[in-house]
Amino acid sequence: MYTCCNFKRFIKLLVIDIIVLLAAAFIFIISRTINGSSASEPGEEPVPLPVIMYHSVFSTEPSEYVITPRQLDSDLSWLSDHGFTAVSAEELVQYVHGKGELPEKPVLITFDDGHYNNLSAALPLFEKYDMRFIVSVVGRFTDSLAAADPHNSAYSYLTWNDISELINSGRAEIGNHTYDMHSISGPRKGCSRIAGESEEDYRSAFTGDISTLQNTIRSACGYVPYVFAYPFGQISKESIPVLREMGFLVTLTCYERMNYITRDPDCLFGLDRYNRSGLLSTEEYMSRLLNGNK
Ligand SMILES: [Zn+2]
Repeated sequence: MYTCCNFKRFIKLLVIDIIVLLAAAFIFIISRTINGSSASEPGEEPVPLPVIMYHSVFSTEPSEYVITPRQLDSDLSWLSDHGFTAVSAEELVQYVHGKGELPEKPVLITFDDGHYNNLSAALPLFEKYDMRFIVSVVGRFTDSLAAADPHNSAYSYLTWNDISELINSGRAEIGNHTYDMHSISGPRKGCSRIAGESEEDYRSAFTGDISTLQNTIRSACGYVPYVFAYPFGQISKESIPVLREMGFLVTLTCYERMNYITRDPDCLFGLDRYNRSGLLSTEEYMSRLLNGNK
């Protein structure tokens, strides 16, 4: 009798234990289902993103900041043959906000300064290889220099109509490269803070310049850039909150390093780039881009 009572009690406790365990398992499964799509995405590896920085493309003697159309053709052919996909800034922004995926081997291709030959020489090659690119323009170059002497592939800058043509091609996104802070010779290096300048004065000068170009592009081309390229890679930390407040989502530097993209939107601030010198062969440059400066 005594044994029988103990046995019944044992069974009762066992059933209670099983019910508690099942309830815990149920709660665990439900909580995983609710939180399963969170941004943390355990097991998702950061994606390496090499970023190329071009400037002018012209059939002349190549230099540090000029490559020939033949060299650009060779670069794009190399990337295509080696399985790289040129992604847009838009795709990167979507990815860091948890939407969509990146291709297996993404590369970001950028041009600085807004040379007219980015339209006349580069765009046809991007059409040929079905690739995307970013052109970061300087407002004053377009307003003054391009207006005075447009459409010479050797030295002209893009006009506002040229910039609209690039946007309408569906191949190019436009970045802000400052309205009139593209100079290294004065006390201010690029758009950085001058030594001794108050934070308030810097903020005012920087905001005024960047918003001038944003407003001009919006009214001339119906487009609002969200990519910002620091002239000469000169960065002041005070610029970062200003750019965020103005709605920029991607900023480009000139440090020659590989980038690693995660689902964190902050990883698109300060993307490092390798300048594509015309003095290197395609193979030499790609080796630096992918393996670092060795
Ligand atoms: Zn520049």
